[in-house]
Amino acid sequence: MPVRVRFAPSPTGLLHIGGVRTALFNWLFARHDGGEFLLRIENTDTSREVEESVEQIQRSLRWLGLDWDGEIEFQLDGLGRHQEAARRLLAEGHAYEHEGAIRFRMPDEGATVWADAIKGQISYPNEKLEDLVLLRSDGRPTYNLAAAVDDADSGITHVIRGEDHVPNTPKQIRILEALARPLPVYAHVPNVFGTDGKKLSKRHGAVSVEEFRAKGYVAPALMNYLALLGWSYDDKTTIMSRDELVERFGLERVGSSPATFDYEKLDWMNGVYLREMPPDQFADDLVAYLRETGFDGDEETIRASAPLVQEKIARLDEYPKFAGFFFRRVEPSAELLDGSGPLLAQVREALATVEPFASEPIEAALRALAERLDLKPRQAFQPIRAAVTGSNVSPGLFESLELLGRNESLARLDAAIKSYR
Ligand code: GLU
Repeated sequence: MPVRVRFAPSPTGLLHIGGVRTALFNWLFARHDGGEFLLRIENTDTSREVEESVEQIQRSLRWLGLDWDGEIEFQLDGLGRHQEAARRLLAEGHAYEHEGAIRFRMPDEGATVWADAIKGQISYPNEKLEDLVLLRSDGRPTYNLAAAVDDADSGITHVIRGEDHVPNTPKQIRILEALARPLPVYAHVPNVFGTDGKKLSKRHGAVSVEEFRAKGYVAPALMNYLALLGWSYDDKTTIMSRDELVERFGLERVGSSPATFDYEKLDWMNGVYLREMPPDQFADDLVAYLRETGFDGDEETIRASAPLVQEKIARLDEYPKFAGFFFRRVEPSAELLDGSGPLLAQVREALATVEPFASEPIEAALRALAERLDLKPRQAFQPIRAAVTGSNVSPGLFESLELLGRNESLARLDAAIKSYR
């Protein structure tokens, strides 16, 4: 029987990266096995008026490439089934009425035990389990009833979810047993902590998928990084494509200790993905990203500059700072340029005549000039870089000059020569 799993977010605000990691593990597990991955919105407690959150959940999953099977289920639509299950438990003596609510009769002795696919055997003494409410006096089911009934009705074979749900599992097992429904396999994935050992939160940096997207991470890199939060293929492999992850993923190699979210490692990984992209795709992604984030430089220049930055940035959001000089004049600081006027005047002269105005002849002319002036190339090139890019970190100098064109390059040199005699 193929596996069937579900991701069951509550539509309360932005989808947190820990939740997305849970979604990814479910998705990888299903795709690895040729099974199904369902999306169930647990809106029983929140009602339907959370459209924005539901939209955002879908947008985030789609962007990451986590496609779900069939229609989205809304838990509230199962209200009738949930009420019926509660009434059946009442009729059969597994539950009783108390102040208008229906409460489950938990056994007082013995233990509820399950073989967690990640954490191993877990045993809960039944005396610790309270007689939980199944149906509130206003007829609304509680999470534990609704989730257990929905898992059974959807034929869920594996419940893969965050370890904060471990305490709910014995309750859901008891409910399903009383209803004589088959039990899924339970698998509780470890928490995600920051490098300081605290639960990942805003203090650490981006936490919602939308924020990661806005910061210029690309989806395949984020997917790769999230897959390694608690799972590993072997002790050394880090870079894995979507297909490789699907092929290799299994619950056996999900650890039970907390995973650490390390933003620096993610940046490194994102840089690897950016560099490995075919240049056309990098340019497409860059243009799309800059449009989405409101950068208004012209597309032709963005595309022309893309190969100059592809090797050098780790996140797409570095582009405006790094390559913004292609789109506007710059004001280099005196610190970078003081006293460089005479040198820049000679640079101007060399660049005025170099033919064609392309990176290789430009490089040859500037190296020859440095040699004539008895300057180390770096000494000679830094002021040029500062004058045309406004900074001492930039894409390749000769390529940048070529892209700016002769007129614009000379105009910027002229401005610097005037200010820094
Ligand atoms: N709705 C629950 C949550 O967002 C998940 C419940 C489950 O996976 O069983 O934490």
